[in-house]
Amino acid sequence: MSKRKSLMAMEQSWSDNAGHMVMFIPDHRILSYMTPRECLARFQSQWNVVGDKPTVCLPLVGVDGVAFDNQLCRTVPITATIGSSQADQRLLGEVARDFVDLGCRLHLYVCPAMEFLQVEACHVLDIRNVGSPQACVQKRKTREFLKYLIGTGIDHVAQHLDRPEESLESIVLDITDLWGMGGEDGKLSLCCFCDECREAFETQGVRVSDFENYPNPWYLALKDSGRAISYIDNISMGETPASIIGKSALRGFDTVFHSANERLRAASALMKFMTRRHEMVEDFLAAIFDEAYVGDDAAHAKKLRRIAVVEGTEYDWTAGVFPGSLKSTIVDELWLDPADTFPHIDLQYKTFMWRRATYFLNAFFETLSSAADPRMRTTTALGRLSLDEMKDLLRQRAAAAFNHQLTGLGQVAALSAAKESTRNGIVGVLLTQEIVDDLLRNPEIAMGLRKQGDDASLDPLSRLMRTISLATDVEEKR
Ligand SMILES: [Zn+2]
Repeated sequence: MSKRKSLMAMEQSWSDNAGHMVMFIPDHRILSYMTPRECLARFQSQWNVVGDKPTVCLPLVGVDGVAFDNQLCRTVPITATIGSSQADQRLLGEVARDFVDLGCRLHLYVCPAMEFLQVEACHVLDIRNVGSPQACVQKRKTREFLKYLIGTGIDHVAQHLDRPEESLESIVLDITDLWGMGGEDGKLSLCCFCDECREAFETQGVRVSDFENYPNPWYLALKDSGRAISYIDNISMGETPASIIGKSALRGFDTVFHSANERLRAASALMKFMTRRHEMVEDFLAAIFDEAYVGDDAAHAKKLRRIAVVEGTEYDWTAGVFPGSLKSTIVDELWLDPADTFPHIDLQYKTFMWRRATYFLNAFFETLSSAADPRMRTTTALGRLSLDEMKDLLRQRAAAAFNHQLTGLGQVAALSAAKESTRNGIVGVLLTQEIVDDLLRNPEIAMGLRKQGDDASLDPLSRLMRTISLATDVEEKR
């Protein structure tokens, strides 16, 4: 009996659409529960691929630190399972070699937040001058630290591989959450306005003082709606003030302005701000990708492919870029999640199979690290959470991360075919419900400022969540 046409068409779209596959390991802690061989088997069955080996993306600079020796920060070795309930402390290079021995090539992932450094001089400052532990990538020191870690990490991994030039494919720089946004009582505060950010804005004609007011140009496109920030993200580079005002009016965001002139001035200042931030992030990407080579001599060494992770929108507020306008001289490839209003992308790209890219994934793993960190539990808002509230927060973050996955062959079949676009594959995230359950079973939680059973005269969890980094999740996406 011959196959039905509809079956053949669906099978064809699966094989056409998948393209090259990447297995993304979002955090070292995944390897505490699965050996490299088990990771691979799980991924291949999840995505129905048996032949070609996926390229594996391992955290080089992860949310909780680095798993190689260096002079800048503590080494966090990987507690890697070696099967039958046994675990071993491994360095990144050893794990990388295991994957290469299984026939995989490697991408190395870099999260530039570097909260584990705990160097206050690098921290972001919002428009009210309130700091958060995430590093500002505009700062010269942040760039120096990041380049040092990337260079040391590449050398470390290369030393563990027989043919590093062949096995190492790219550096993947995650820009999905560089510039945090917060809101309270309808007032917005965006990051970062440290001295170096201010100078970079001012020298290009963006008056920072315009944004220290209420209302200011952001209010045309952003709105604090109580439990979250709503935003307009279908704004493209160079869009006219009239068009921005139209989109703002459609969403009812423009009502805080009193006259047409005010709105016009705000729309033009808003575009200047967005464009300048985009240029600042491009400058950061260029500076960091300079370090993406294997070998001793930068001039003759093998250059690694330069990949940026960002959300699949016209304008990504927390990345501060128009993804479709990133220059091909700076970035070779993008990994973007498939949003409803996916922008036109000239660069090669892969679909990152998780909504809002790495945003919720990293928020979960960061909270897991912060919970275990006595410093974070005594010097930040997390200190005000009791043990049970801390566990609740972890469960909420885990659910937010896990429920944003895009999995299954239906998701792959629905993507635009590789031949119709510059898309060349998909990035599947390795995070199963069993792993989430394992991670939450007995999470390490350091002593906070508030003891269990204390009278909670302090803010309840819901209020606290609005004050800590990443708490104000975006309400909706248009
Ligand atoms: Zn800054």
